[in-house]
Amino acid sequence: MTRRKLAPGRLVIASHNAGKVREIRALLEPFGIEPVSAGDLGLPEPEETGTTFAENALLKAHASAQASGLPALADDSGLCVAALGGAPGVYTADWAEKQWFEAQTLGGPGRDWYLAMGKVEGKLAEQGPDVDRSAFFICTLALVWPDGHEEVFEGRVHGSLAWPPRGTMGFGYDPVFVPLGRDLTFAELDPTEKHAMSHRADAFRKLVEALF
Ligand code: IMP
Repeated sequence: MTRRKLAPGRLVIASHNAGKVREIRALLEPFGIEPVSAGDLGLPEPEETGTTFAENALLKAHASAQASGLPALADDSGLCVAALGGAPGVYTADWAEKQWFEAQTLGGPGRDWYLAMGKVEGKLAEQGPDVDRSAFFICTLALVWPDGHEEVFEGRVHGSLAWPPRGTMGFGYDPVFVPLGRDLTFAELDPTEKHAMSHRADAFRKLVEALF
């Protein structure tokens, strides 16, 4: 299949995650793209049943493109920890899901990122003090047009995991992720600095090069 260019105009961001939508909007607006979120359009959120980042990104983008009649961009991302064999990986968001007993003590059901960061840390601690703390964030972007044409781009940022969590900016696992060559976590770094070096920025650089 030949590469297709993306014309200026409306594009659906196939995500209900406000943090991601904010970052993607900032990255695409300079190219004359008017991003609207799947949440704002009231589009349903398909279940992420894929076993790879690309499969999940593609199924979200296809669902939004079909439902809206607009090109749709989906991001599937996660944290891969070397010493945990790449976990939590595609299950990165699931590790934040509170179990019944956790919901009782942690303010009701839903996701808790501190709980998730604690689970990662607990599994690292089981391997002793000299455990390899290296990890990377990965971002897979899938862009799908209403006629079914698809393009996929992947970006990564390598780093290591800090404990305890530090910083108040960003979202998700940002407070424990220290990018390679820096001492600050993603949640301590200025958001513009994070956006310039993140896995999402890396994937977007590839997308921009190919599509505009
Ligand atoms: P999904 O792509 O919606 O399945 O979710 C992936 C999860 O990975 C997010 O909910 C975040 O917790 C985590 N994640 C992805 N990108 C970042 C990031 O830039 N910082 C922190 N956590 C992230």
